[in-house]
Amino acid sequence: MNALPVEQEAASAQATLEADILFKDAASYLKQKDVNLLRSAYEFGKTAHLGQYRMTGDPYISHPIAVSHMLVQWRLDGQAMTAALLHDVMEDTAVTKKEIRDKFGKVVAELVDGVSKLDKIEFESQEHEQAENFRKMLLAMASDVRVILIKLADRLHNMRTLTVMQPHKRTRIARETMEIYAPIANRLGLNKLYQDLQELSFQHLYPNRYQVLTRALARARGNRREMVDKILKAIRKQLKTSKIEAVVTGREKTIYSIYKKMIEKALSFAEVYDIYGFRVIVKDVPACYLALGALHQLYKPIPGKFKDYIAIRKDNGYQSLHTSLFGPLSTPMEVQIRTQEMHKIAEAGVASHWLYKESGTSLSDLQTKTHQWLQSLLEMQSESGNSAEFLEHLKVDLFPDEVYVFTPKGRIMSLPHGATCVDFAYAVHTDIGNRCVASKVNHELVPLRTELKSGDRVEVITAAHAKPNPAWLSFVKSGKARSRIRHFLKTMQYEESAMLGERLLGQALIALQSGPDKITEEQWERLLKGSGGKSRQELLADLGLGKQLAVVVARRLLSIGDGDATRQPGSLVIRGSEGMALQFAKCCHPIPGDPIIGFLRKDHGLIIHTHDCPVARKSRSDPDKWMDVEWAPDSKKLFAVNIKLLASNERGVLAKIAAEIAQTESNIESVSLEPGDSSVYAEINFTLQVIDRLHLARVMRSLRRIPEVIRIIRLKT
Ligand code: MN
Repeated sequence: MNALPVEQEAASAQATLEADILFKDAASYLKQKDVNLLRSAYEFGKTAHLGQYRMTGDPYISHPIAVSHMLVQWRLDGQAMTAALLHDVMEDTAVTKKEIRDKFGKVVAELVDGVSKLDKIEFESQEHEQAENFRKMLLAMASDVRVILIKLADRLHNMRTLTVMQPHKRTRIARETMEIYAPIANRLGLNKLYQDLQELSFQHLYPNRYQVLTRALARARGNRREMVDKILKAIRKQLKTSKIEAVVTGREKTIYSIYKKMIEKALSFAEVYDIYGFRVIVKDVPACYLALGALHQLYKPIPGKFKDYIAIRKDNGYQSLHTSLFGPLSTPMEVQIRTQEMHKIAEAGVASHWLYKESGTSLSDLQTKTHQWLQSLLEMQSESGNSAEFLEHLKVDLFPDEVYVFTPKGRIMSLPHGATCVDFAYAVHTDIGNRCVASKVNHELVPLRTELKSGDRVEVITAAHAKPNPAWLSFVKSGKARSRIRHFLKTMQYEESAMLGERLLGQALIALQSGPDKITEEQWERLLKGSGGKSRQELLADLGLGKQLAVVVARRLLSIGDGDATRQPGSLVIRGSEGMALQFAKCCHPIPGDPIIGFLRKDHGLIIHTHDCPVARKSRSDPDKWMDVEWAPDSKKLFAVNIKLLASNERGVLAKIAAEIAQTESNIESVSLEPGDSSVYAEINFTLQVIDRLHLARVMRSLRRIPEVIRIIRLKT
């Protein structure tokens, strides 16, 4: 390594100095062991980032030091401070999560990992509603609120050093900050941070406007400095006379807030008069109102400008009295009056619980503290009778029961917690759901039942003739997916049943020396009139579902009495494409070539068994429900069949068998291994897909040729 140039050496010395200040400030409220942890994290981070420099020319470690230092203002615990020092090592160096866990513990590792995950996703969309979803996604991904606090501090420091970046990068980061991070800070009640982020974003998004306003403000300030001093003195004197203890400060409004006011109310700079503000901090609530009265005696209030945010607090917990007054020379000015406690909440929001922590309480469960903060806000809200809706939203944001995922085009969709790829497919579009066959999450093929996590990028693969699988109902989480799948299956079953019913009726009519073409409209009408107002389609579906018997309906169509002895209907031809109206019995798994028989089961439609199926034999007593069926000669569909195989238990035997099955153009639907009586043999059950008996025979023949295979049989029960 060459010696560092002089400037870099100086910068490095500067970083060391800043680290020392950090340790000193941290030691003002952290235990010694936490400060020690922080010190070792610094040494570790310095080594990890060695040789890396920021665009500013500073050694990289100066950035995590600054981020960690920002957390001192909220009195964050040692673990969070340590994680802040390490927040970029996983992203930018070879350090792994495991290494951090081994050296600094599980919590620190989780925090660093959490921040790294947030770093990976960028906000690309230009749409406003998407910004809201993106904010929620960030909050959902940060399972611990400290991750968000570190991320916000990281963003603030990056914004402060943004000038060195390329202009297009500057704009992108500033826009993301304005639309995503500043609103999150606001939502968490971190008002100071919120204003800082807005101000910096504005400066980079609209550099010209920012400069013009800065100059205008400087001129106005020059004119009014004396007057501000005069007003400060007058306020202090007035409060003292009224015996109110108070700390009074002059407060300058941010340039962005002045700009916003100009835009919103269409005012010129000269018209935004109350560019000066004052803040009065007193000891308790009664003193707030006393101070207000005293000030209204001193200066005349501007009508309609008083706001009592103590009685009715803002949604994020903010409390203060706001009033606007006519100062000397009728200069308008704004005054905020609040207690010290309100002040801390106004500045630190969700972090105020750390600030207020009682000595001796455990800091381990900060999630609980966040809950407390939300709870206290909720209670105060209900006292003041204000709507708790916002807080409910916030609660959902921080502890979400939703996940947020990206579509391939970068849109964000929200889904219920535990949602799967199928839920996603239906959320995109019903057609996508109905036709989905496979899915990719973060570019990797995954099963459709895979549960999604916030930040996942999800892609659905569809096929034109694919249909929803009833098994999906066992894992989908969203109401939409559930109801669409049910709807589809019901419609499909109805249609397919009607088609089967039509064929059953046709067979029955032919058996009665008639035929479907010979039935007149009048005959149909007469029949339907007597069937309780059912449509022809509904009646046919009933036949297919086995709710009515085709023979009986055929007789009624032809007006033949029930008692007439006639031949049984001829056999129905089974093609295997009848869909849900027809099922192949799970007991005997018939395949083309097997002698078969059909059983009409009420509400289930026609069930096909093999002739020798023992299950079927048991219920042969009701001959009306049984019908002759036969295979269509040229069916090229695949049918499931079970085989059992005994093989010597050797390494790789299953792979050999699977390869052989693939060779014979059969598919494996499922495999299960049964531990045999000895470890020498293994019993393997396969469900295979074959075209017919000949195909099955071919498969079994080639399996027998494998030396390890000892016995193979088809299972029919
Ligand atoms: Mn960073």
